[in-house]
Amino acid sequence: MKNIIFIAPPASGKGTLSNLLKENFNYKHLSTGDILRDEVDSGNEEVKNLIENGQLVSDELIMSLINKKISNLVDTPFILDGCPRTLKQVHLLDEVIKNLDLKNIIVVKLNIDLDTAKKRILGRRNCKCGKTYNVYIDELKPRVEDVCDNCGASLYQRSDDTEEKIVVRFNEYEKNIKPIAEFYKNEGILHEMDATGELDKIFESLKEIIND
Ligand code: AMP
Repeated sequence: MKNIIFIAPPASGKGTLSNLLKENFNYKHLSTGDILRDEVDSGNEEVKNLIENGQLVSDELIMSLINKKISNLVDTPFILDGCPRTLKQVHLLDEVIKNLDLKNIIVVKLNIDLDTAKKRILGRRNCKCGKTYNVYIDELKPRVEDVCDNCGASLYQRSDDTEEKIVVRFNEYEKNIKPIAEFYKNEGILHEMDATGELDKIFESLKEIIND
């Protein structure tokens, strides 16, 4: 099974696809957004402000947080979701990958347009346990409104999941993605896929890539 690095705009479904991979194939999932939200919960005001404004946290902070966790990924297939988001992170991550001798890595770029991202973001609901839902998509609705199917906790909306912030976050992604994708294309490990449309079909396309 391949190790996966997702490079994707907000609301492209990387969290949902990661959950499916975890459920179906026992992947480990490392999400930089989740790690940063834990930082916010521990009282980091600077990170809180950056996330709420749709801006990126510094490359140094993100890499120091990842460094602490990435060494847990060595013996099972893993998904890295949300990093790298800048060219500097690409190079820092490359060093980590080499140092830990992580192999069999592919980079999957999920493509969606801004209108789709906006629609998805407004329906997105989250649970503290990590499960995500979408109240506008039948396969992704919780069984009971606003309650997590997994753990029974109340669902919430992220403070950066607003129409205004999604535009900022999407533009930030568009600004940075070209050289990142170029780097992985030159390495011969980049796979691009359309992430709009029905979830089943998107997951099928992803499975084809990881089983290739
Ligand atoms: P996500 O959950 O992936 O949508 O990330 C939520 C927010 O966390 C982003 O909008 C950024 O503010 C921040 N963030 C997540 N990953 C990174 C990263 N690799 N570099 C910088 N900021 C990040």
